Amino acid sequence: MDLHLKGKVYIVTGGSKGIGEAISRAIAAEGGIPVIATRSHESADRLVAELKAAGDDAHSVIGALEEVAFCKKVVDETAARYGRIDGIVNNAGANDGAGLEKGPEAFRNSLSINLFHYYDLVHYALPFLKKNKGTIVNISSKVALTGQGNTSGYAAAKGAQLALTREWAAELLPHSIRVNAILPAEVMTPLYRRWLDISFDDPAAKEAAIVSKIPLDKRMTTPEEIAAMAVFLLSDQSGHTTGQFMVVDGGYVHLDRSLT
Ligand code: NAP
Repeated sequence: MDLHLKGKVYIVTGGSKGIGEAISRAIAAEGGIPVIATRSHESADRLVAELKAAGDDAHSVIGALEEVAFCKKVVDETAARYGRIDGIVNNAGANDGAGLEKGPEAFRNSLSINLFHYYDLVHYALPFLKKNKGTIVNISSKVALTGQGNTSGYAAAKGAQLALTREWAAELLPHSIRVNAILPAEVMTPLYRRWLDISFDDPAAKEAAIVSKIPLDKRMTTPEEIAAMAVFLLSDQSGHTTGQFMVVDGGYVHLDRSLT
C-alpha cells in the first residue's frame, strides 16, 4: 500500500527516542520528511545523520517544547526550510508522577510539559495545515481512560489530548484537516524503562506482572506497531477517519479481564 507521504513534511515532537523515533523512521521509510522537535541534541543528531546517510531527508529543531517561543520556532524553521507542513505528530511527554500529594506547582508543570505544546504547535502550524489539508496525530495514553494513581498532571494532559482530538476534528472539518489520537498502553521505550526503574523495588518483577496481563501474545506493544498506525493516520489511505481514538495495546484496556 502506497501511503503517498513522499516529499511531505511532518513535525514529530520527541521524534528521536522511543515511540517518536519509530514514527520518524516510519515517515522517512515512506519517503516523507520528519522534522524532529525535541530537547535531546545527541539522539536527534544521530537519527538525522543516519536517515540522511540512507538517502532520506530529515531535520531537527532542538529545544524545550514547554516554551511557547520554541513551538513557534519549530514551525517557522520547518516552513522556511521546506515551504510546507503536511502534518504534526504531537508525541513528546513524560509520566512525571505529579500526583495529588505533589501540589499545585507540580500539577501545573506537568500540564506544561505534557499538554500545552500540543495546542501551541497546531496553532502556529495552522496556516500551513489548512493549505495542504494536513493531518494531526496526538499521542495520548491508556491513562486517559484508566487512570494510574499518583499522576494527576499526566492523566489530565492525556485526557485533554483526547478532548482536543475531537474538538480539532470538529473545528477543522471545513479545511479537510483530519485529527486522530493513538493511545499506547505498554511500550518499552526510554521513558517506560525509567518509570519501571525508579518506581519499583523489583522492576523486572513488575515488568513480568504487566506483560502477563497483556491479552494478545503476552508481550508489550513495539514502538514500530504504534508508528505503523501513526503513518496510516497521517496518510490519505485513512482519508475518511477523523476524531478517532486508536487503542494500539494488544487488547490491554478493553478485553475481558478473565482472559488473562
Ligand atoms: P521517551 O522514550 O521519553 O521519548 C520521548 C522523547 O520526547 C524524548 O526524547 C524526550 O526528550 C522528548 N521530550 C519529552 N518532553 C519534551 C519537551 N517538553 N520538550 C522537548 N522534548 C521533550 O517517551 P515514549 O515512551 O516514547 O513516549 C512518547 C509518548 O507516548 C508520550 O506522549 C507518552 O505519554 C506516550 N505513551 C507512552 C507509553 C509507553 O508505554 N511508552 C504509554 C502510553 C503513552 P529527552 O530525551 O530529553 O527525555
